[in-house]
Amino acid sequence: MAKYEGGCSCQNCGKKADVYTDKNGLAYYKCGPCGFFPKFSNMRHSQAFLQGKVERDEPAQNTPPPEGAIPVPANTVPGPAKKKAGFFDGVLT
Ligand SMILES: [Zn+2]
Repeated sequence: MAKYEGGCSCQNCGKKADVYTDKNGLAYYKCGPCGFFPKFSNMRHSQAFLQGKVERDEPAQNTPPPEGAIPVPANTVPGPAKKKAGFFDGVLT
């Protein structure tokens, strides 16, 4: 079963392509615009590609909850909002 891994830039034309891994965990993508269809046959190269080139679709990290998701009791005064450090703060600069 192919598994979606994320997006990468096509090595041939630079457009965005969807990257998948096959049942053996080897990465491949097919570029729609130019038809470039590289497939890794070496697990080490495949892993390096997935870790270095593929932008994974991470769930949003700092999305506030929708309005009214956390009910505040009427008889308490909420303190000053704490600024939560994002997961990637200071990691990606
Ligand atoms: Zn391409």
